[in-house]
Amino acid sequence: MLDFGLTQEQEEIRRLARKFADHELAPRAPYYDKTGEFPWEHFKKMAELGFTGMMLPPEHGGLGADTLTHAIVIEEIARGSAVMAVMLEVHNTLACESINRFGTLEQKKKYLPKLASGEYLGAFALTEPNSGSDASGMCTTAVLQGDSYVLNGSKCFITSGGQAHLYLVMARTNKEAGTKGISAFLVEKGTPGFSFGQPEEKMGLTASHTTDLILDDCRIPRENLVGREGEGFKMALTVLDGGRLGIGAQAVGITQAAFEAAVKYSRERVQFGQPIANFQAIQWMLAEMSTDLDAARMLLYHAAWLKDQGRPMTTEAARAKLFASTMAVKHTAKAVQIHGGYGYIKEYNVERFMREAKATEIYEGTSEIQKLVIARNILK
Ligand SMILES: Cc1cc2nc3c(=O)[nH]c(=O)nc-3n(C[C@H](O)[C@H](O)[C@H](O)COP(=O)(O)OP(=O)(O)OC[C@H]3O[C@@H](n4cnc5c(N)ncnc54)[C@H](O)[C@@H]3O)c2cc1C
Repeated sequence: MLDFGLTQEQEEIRRLARKFADHELAPRAPYYDKTGEFPWEHFKKMAELGFTGMMLPPEHGGLGADTLTHAIVIEEIARGSAVMAVMLEVHNTLACESINRFGTLEQKKKYLPKLASGEYLGAFALTEPNSGSDASGMCTTAVLQGDSYVLNGSKCFITSGGQAHLYLVMARTNKEAGTKGISAFLVEKGTPGFSFGQPEEKMGLTASHTTDLILDDCRIPRENLVGREGEGFKMALTVLDGGRLGIGAQAVGITQAAFEAAVKYSRERVQFGQPIANFQAIQWMLAEMSTDLDAARMLLYHAAWLKDQGRPMTTEAARAKLFASTMAVKHTAKAVQIHGGYGYIKEYNVERFMREAKATEIYEGTSEIQKLVIARNILK
């Protein structure tokens, strides 16, 4: 049976997230874009609204929300601030979910309530300077010494680096075992031997700090291993399926914001004695934007629904992310075009949407990697 309706609860949470995005996130987004200041005020507010750790079960402080509801929240948050959307998405789908799905009861009790309440911000560290798309090529090592693991190496491009309190770090425990030699560890900020690079100067998402992590004889308790030794790579791929839905939702939210700005501007801007919305060239752009937005949402919600049914969704998540991020790059550029010269001016926001959209084609697996995942499934 096909049912395209959202539940009353999902509609309510969408309204709540939208109100927050419209009243608090969107008005401050240009400030954060300009200053690169880390938006702690907004993270704390998202925690108050129950969005941090929202998919965690209530016994660990979460709302027990499903993947579809989470996608809706990320989409609405991204409409107001792409920065807050990626921060929340990484926190919820990569950090919280990893511990909730693969952690010990002790790890869950120790960390999940703090992550859910917003006392802790979580981060996920897979990428290294020489291993991005091919994450299996990582060099960071973790060696068991008595009751501790000693970590050495470096990670790069880590979202919320230096600001987050807890990092899920992938490191090699067996050099010979390929992907089965990678394990996952929880590393707290402040652990001796654990430091951060300066935030990267990026094209967009400036207030989402992206840094290197440096692990220099960083000693962590043995009980900070998540899952068993050798399971880290599989774990990372599993949570990244959910993460791709989060990035797909972010792409939809950014595009929706650009679309709304384009519709408004095209009604207001008068040239040749009439609003530019009267010109077919503009109407076609708006029609294409709204059609692709709908298509992206369908792919996204369907993949989220599959996940909520406990069904395989790796290919569907890859398709949703691929389509939504490609759309975001294409249509945020169209929103700039519809604004003409004003589109190139920061005051109108659409140039920021265009800069922010580009990241969705890169992180949590580039578009080429999404195509590789989809094609592998076709040809298996
Ligand atoms: C803003 C931002 C935030 C990020 N946050 C995080 C984070 O929190 N945690 C984390 O671990 N990482 C994070 N990343 C890293 C991100 O996931 C990687 O940048 C991404 O996976 C690509 O890796 P790479 O940059 O090394 O590119 P490469 O893997 O070197 O790719 C370069 C180019 O080659 C292409 N390519 C590579 N392999 C293939 C192939 N087999 N077939 C076809 N084409 C291929 C790629 O698609 C790309 O176009 C972040 C990155 C950015 C920009």
